[in-house]
Amino acid sequence: MATKTTLRTGSLLAATVLFLPIGIPAAEAAAPRPGASTLNDRLFPGLGNGGYDALSYDVSLDYRTGTTKMPASVTMRARATQSLSSFSLDSAGQQISLVTVDGRPAQYKLAKEKLTITPARPLYKYLPFTVRVVYTADRSQNPVSPGLDLPPGVPSPFTVWNETPDGFGVMGQPNREHVVFPSNDHPSDKAQYTLRITAPNDRTGVASGRLQAKYWHGATTTWVYRTAHPIKTDVVAIAVGKFRTIKQTGPHGLPLRAVRRARPHQPVRRGRAGDGRVVHLRTPTLAGREGRGRDAVHEMTHQYFGDAVSVRSWDDMWISEGHARYYERKYDASRGFTNLDQEPKDLYEADQQSRSQAGPMGQLNNQLAVLFDTDVPGQLMLTGLDTLVGDPTFRRIEQTFFDRYRDRDASTQDYIDVANEVSGRDLTQYFRAWIYGKTTPPMPERRPGCGVWRSGASSGVPPGRVVPSLRAESL
Ligand SMILES: [Zn+2]
Repeated sequence: MATKTTLRTGSLLAATVLFLPIGIPAAEAAAPRPGASTLNDRLFPGLGNGGYDALSYDVSLDYRTGTTKMPASVTMRARATQSLSSFSLDSAGQQISLVTVDGRPAQYKLAKEKLTITPARPLYKYLPFTVRVVYTADRSQNPVSPGLDLPPGVPSPFTVWNETPDGFGVMGQPNREHVVFPSNDHPSDKAQYTLRITAPNDRTGVASGRLQAKYWHGATTTWVYRTAHPIKTDVVAIAVGKFRTIKQTGPHGLPLRAVRRARPHQPVRRGRAGDGRVVHLRTPTLAGREGRGRDAVHEMTHQYFGDAVSVRSWDDMWISEGHARYYERKYDASRGFTNLDQEPKDLYEADQQSRSQAGPMGQLNNQLAVLFDTDVPGQLMLTGLDTLVGDPTFRRIEQTFFDRYRDRDASTQDYIDVANEVSGRDLTQYFRAWIYGKTTPPMPERRPGCGVWRSGASSGVPPGRVVPSLRAESL
């Protein structure tokens, strides 16, 4: 009996060792278990997946005229942060035909916007793995975000796929990029991207990153773009159309590339398609008329705040939108289009009403508000901070924060910590009042004699379900 038991144990050990990669402690690898199917974001509780860190995505989309269906694939390279028996990706509206993990076919199930994948062999902590999903993306499929709390009969103001006369554009924010490609669709999991867009030769494929290559295959062309730095999923831009490219030079010789419609008699109206839905692809240039340059500066600011330094959770979205709005208005004022003595005052007086409707910018009460109700309060808070600490210190706060969190994500607390450290003051209460307070805090005296602004507005608007007003601003 004793001999038999020993033999059995020995066989089990031998079998286990066969599957264990060299160098992985047995304790780490002993119990592969399913990765979490959410990252527990307060505002988007179902979004994101645990158990791995996405490193890169390689996405292919094949646009064809006369159909909304596009053959597609995504290859995600990731590193396991626990030993995994199964794991999930965010995914919606796709027809999936094959999933492989490290080249081997894997079992999969798509339900409730989660693509759960069971690899043929467990994945071990610390080790990289590769998932490939082959699917059909259908631009007629625009499933509404499951957490969107819209009143009955009110359609979602956004669609992911936006048809244009000669192609399409995608709008993945805030939580819809996984309709375009299966992914770990949460801003805290940044990754590098290669985007391959195939289209007829008379169209241009445009995507995030730099153009790396163009391949001709008879009647079609594949455009390959690659990002130089990790970015978050929801800012991945993809479009196909008859475009022309405008090259410009920005401040300090910054090379700028804008893509506009080739036919000037059918312009995209400030980034909007004909049906009024927002298209992610931005078209303004710095040389445009009033408001156009402002939009360009807004989007360029996102390269720094939002993309290079991304938000750790959706409650931190003011870091992205507040800065974009702050710098766009400063640029606009430098061109004579915005009066920075008057506009912040008007915005300040309106803050209590939007705060009562949508909640404070760090604790919004509806998902769409991340796109519409974080920019202005963020601008006001940064304006007040500039006043409190003085412009040289404000600039050092901004530079330090950017340098420290570049290519990473940052939280609201990270920004507060940097501001306190650089200014040598404890500004925590100032930030908390603006970011989490239910009432509009006082605005520091901007100039001697100008007085402290105080909000006297009582909104009378009950908090609750709100349809954003869809201001015609940039996202
Ligand atoms: Zn924005």
